[in-house]
Amino acid sequence: MSGSKLSYRTTCRLCGRNPLERVVKFDPIALPMKFELTKEAAQRAELFPINLYMCSDCGHVQQLEVVDDEALWVGYTYQSAHAPVMPQHFKDVAAKVMAKYKPEPGSLVIDIGSNDGSFLRPFKEAGYRVLGIEMVKEIAKQATENGIETIGEPLSPKIAEEVRRKYGGAAIVTAFNVLAHSDDLHSMAKAIQGLLDPKGVFVFEVQYLMDVIEKTLVATIFHEHLSHHSVKSMQQFLSAYYMNIIDVDRVPIQHGSIIGYVQFANGPRMRNPYVDYLIEREKKMGLDKPATLLKFAEDIYKLRADCESLVATWKSEGATVAGYGAAMSGPGLISMLGLKDTIEYILDDHQQKVGKFSPGDGIPVVPTAELLARQPDYCVILAWVHSQRIIDQNSEYLARGGKFVVLCPDFRVVEGQRQVEAAHA
Ligand SMILES: [Zn+2]
Repeated sequence: MSGSKLSYRTTCRLCGRNPLERVVKFDPIALPMKFELTKEAAQRAELFPINLYMCSDCGHVQQLEVVDDEALWVGYTYQSAHAPVMPQHFKDVAAKVMAKYKPEPGSLVIDIGSNDGSFLRPFKEAGYRVLGIEMVKEIAKQATENGIETIGEPLSPKIAEEVRRKYGGAAIVTAFNVLAHSDDLHSMAKAIQGLLDPKGVFVFEVQYLMDVIEKTLVATIFHEHLSHHSVKSMQQFLSAYYMNIIDVDRVPIQHGSIIGYVQFANGPRMRNPYVDYLIEREKKMGLDKPATLLKFAEDIYKLRADCESLVATWKSEGATVAGYGAAMSGPGLISMLGLKDTIEYILDDHQQKVGKFSPGDGIPVVPTAELLARQPDYCVILAWVHSQRIIDQNSEYLARGGKFVVLCPDFRVVEGQRQVEAAHA
């Protein structure tokens, strides 16, 4: 392991204090986007530690081992329009934000981590000025060419200042799945302060720690996911920047996310009592207590044990096993659930992955059409977010006697029309 791509935090990402207690420990895994042309090259991939820590002061749950942005995101090809659920989700959230906060016609809407500009499109169509900020230059360029002006730089207070000077303050600033991936949230908060109008609203979406714990969402633990946010620790963090959470929605994205709505401390809107209700519920649940996370770790180890006993059964049957979806969470799931020597090939149609080998494990990636051609006895769904869609689209595989294995959030085997509850039930 070379130190150059990895740094270690010693203080809490939100409150800056220590000590932090390690609450969940995993085996090191490869970065999930580095598909290689040969099995050997894939297996030589550098492995990076992956552990969860809890701040003893604010209770924030986070990774302290941080892989460099460059190592993480080079070759990153995700574009939100390709993920079928997101455009509709973005449209719904955009419609809600417009109805709820009624930004003045022609005012500015900025999306941080804007990807291909999907989220800004409905605002543009409704007559707002829009601006994307996307650190992957290639994606920013494409978005601009497709009509959503996008700055190809990572957001910083300096960029925020330049944007403010050129475009004025924003009525709405949004950040979807950005606050979970950013190591320097203080720089992010300062930049948001700089972008936002005094009466503006900052809208963020993050995976919700409460759902991660309650549903044992092991698949959401990967290198990019540096923070697992709760309303309480986020409010405490934002208050240091004179910002308050005024409303929260819980949404089913990634099996449990929250959308937080934030204004400046002296802003014009009332705080929805639901925010305090959630903070109270988090406290009752012990979401800021190490014991709660240690129990979560136990749940993961139990899930792994269930998975291993299933694998042992497959081996004794001489069953063939495939994986479905070369997703970001794939290498983590394979490692955390002990599936490394079980999955013979992964089905995926992504043009930058087909014909290559998965990072770390060196599992070959073949087109999804191979599912029917090869008819494996079991097909483990690694693209866990899309489990239901994958099952629905492959009824023929099931009709021919194939079985899907859903890992997360409920560990189960799906065959034909009925579902056989696995040992985890
Ligand atoms: Zn803290």
